[in-house]
Amino acid sequence: MSLTLDPRMPSGPLAQKWDKHRFEMKLVNPANKRKFTVVVVGSGLAGGAAAATMSELGYKVKCFCFQDSPRRAHSIAAQGGINAAKNYRNDGDSIYRLFYDTIKGGDFRSREGNVYRLAEVSVNIIDQCVAQGVPFAREYGGLLANRSFGGAQVSRTFYARGQTGQQLLLGAYQALERQIVAGGVKMYPRTEMLDLVVIDGKARGIITRDLVTGAIESHYADAVVLATGGYGNVFFLSTNAQGCNATAIWRAYKRGAAFANPCFTQIHPTCIPVSGEHQSKLTLMSESLRNDGRVWVPLKAGDKRDPRQIPENDRDYFLERKYPAFGNLAPRDIASRAAKEVCDEGRGVGETGFGVYLDFADAIKRLGKPVIEDRYGNLFEMYERITNENPYEVPMRIYPAVHYTMGGLWVDYNLMSTVEGLHVTGEANFSDHGANRLGASALMQGLADGYFIIPNTIGDYLAGQKLAKVDPTHDAFKEAVAAVEERTKKLLAIDGTRTVTSFHRELGKIMWDYCGMSRNEAGLKVALEKIPKLRAEFWRDVNVPGSDVELNQALERAGRVADFLELAELMCIDALHRTESCGAHFREESQTPDGEALRDDANFTYVAAWQYAGESRSPILNKEPLVFENVKLSQRSYK
Ligand SMILES: Cc1cc2nc3c(=O)[nH]c(=O)nc-3n(C[C@H](O)[C@H](O)[C@H](O)COP(=O)(O)OP(=O)(O)OC[C@H]3O[C@@H](n4cnc5c(N)ncnc54)[C@H](O)[C@@H]3O)c2cc1C
Repeated sequence: MSLTLDPRMPSGPLAQKWDKHRFEMKLVNPANKRKFTVVVVGSGLAGGAAAATMSELGYKVKCFCFQDSPRRAHSIAAQGGINAAKNYRNDGDSIYRLFYDTIKGGDFRSREGNVYRLAEVSVNIIDQCVAQGVPFAREYGGLLANRSFGGAQVSRTFYARGQTGQQLLLGAYQALERQIVAGGVKMYPRTEMLDLVVIDGKARGIITRDLVTGAIESHYADAVVLATGGYGNVFFLSTNAQGCNATAIWRAYKRGAAFANPCFTQIHPTCIPVSGEHQSKLTLMSESLRNDGRVWVPLKAGDKRDPRQIPENDRDYFLERKYPAFGNLAPRDIASRAAKEVCDEGRGVGETGFGVYLDFADAIKRLGKPVIEDRYGNLFEMYERITNENPYEVPMRIYPAVHYTMGGLWVDYNLMSTVEGLHVTGEANFSDHGANRLGASALMQGLADGYFIIPNTIGDYLAGQKLAKVDPTHDAFKEAVAAVEERTKKLLAIDGTRTVTSFHRELGKIMWDYCGMSRNEAGLKVALEKIPKLRAEFWRDVNVPGSDVELNQALERAGRVADFLELAELMCIDALHRTESCGAHFREESQTPDGEALRDDANFTYVAAWQYAGESRSPILNKEPLVFENVKLSQRSYK
């Protein structure tokens, strides 16, 4: 049976929807809040902010993360900045412009109401973070400084050098720690959620594994929030931290939460190129570098001269040439494809030929080295440490890499999934970025969800419920615990010949080759043949050493890779069914004469929400039509 997808979009004018909705939502009396327990899985910006804020409101919160401290959530890696429509620069920005840029940047595949709310709340985020003491960069006069990110012609990105995520997370972490000490939040570090418990159609708890002792535990709740980040590591090589995984959302999918637009994956144009077969991680060079760096390749294929010896006339600043209006700040999907194109023409640089230059020589000449150092010093240092090249003297070499997943669990306007009581925030949901996320908008979304949206909408859910008392002796908990234990034992019992990593690497290559920067029908069909075979081999031949009653990272990885092996198939099914190109989903069969993504609005203006139908049965496609009442759908142009 298919699902009814009700986005529960408030009626009325765009700019009044959120206000009106907040007024219309039910409230939980302050004295009653402590009677409700909310489980928050994830302590990154989305989860940490949500847990701290809900506890501050009075709810009892249990917060989980697999790292040894909430402070190490992957959000800490974010470099470049966070968007907000403050218009401090007086350069024409507004809430409406941020809304419009985001809708257009996502190639018209996101909900107007959600995106407008995001733009509206963005201004509060900056105030909140400043109040927490987040050390945003400032202008000489004291006002917060801004820089530009891709897909925008205004400067609206707030930043703290190249460590914005770290500073924002320290803010959220302090708020969380305060609540931990005050007793409102119980924190469970080094604990992995391995299943969702659904009772009478409602999310009522989770099953976890203590990663140090191996103990399997049940945690009941009145509502569950998943803030578990993105699933880019399905590609093995990505800019994500090694531990990032899809397990929480994938297991929730198998318990009834629809998975929306799984194939929408962002490939970031500015990463340090892959250097060899044994690499297990890719490093991002923040998009902020494109404020001052110029992207180019030699004009002629096979030009192997030192870049400093290549004169202006022999260079092709291909982004400036192709997209004069946005130049080096063309959005990520477009800049990535343009880099791939010049490399496919044989004009790529570096040993592998899969690289383009990001050159700061002009900026250093114009602004002086100290200014560049001040803006990007830590990024330059990181680049030099990894490549042994000094980017103040030689242009950086960059190439696109998997970075972010726009897809995720489907949520309505209240951030609730198709399982009642299961809410999903941050990168783990699909909500705001359509088919392509603009730079500096993920931090904005994670914090909007965590500080401002979920603390309101969770109350509306809880106030409207008459929840029966449950505890871990309930059959649903027992069944979920048994399933987790059985799976763990099964992984350990295989005792095969291949490492988990070798399977993961092979899966990643299939995904990169056939479901990466560009996709076509024939390739996706090949992937759909290869993935089930690889999955079968995994369950036949994987080798997981050690036991389940101790710290066992091979076991942790095995469980996550097993989930990636299933999710990858859904991603390819989704990519195959969407025969249009949109944003980062580039179907080679659907392009304009000049090679840009060609949407098919008549047939694909919808969110594809896939529903689990059981082991070895095809997932069911549910469609949420996207309604555009304020913006006119147009061919995206950055020229
Ligand atoms: C290198 C890099 C740089 C970036 N720079 C920027 C930037 O400048 N601006 C921007 O806007 N965005 C940036 N992004 C994107 C942005 O950082 C992320 O999208 C965002 O931080 C995700 O936050 P989150 O809270 O949703 O998830 P995360 O920060 O990934 O947190 C996930 C949390 O869930 C927990 N978790 C996951 N699964 C489980 C489980 N099964 N059980 C228990 N706990 C679990 C983890 O322990 C963690 O606490 C960048 C991304 C990368 C990779």
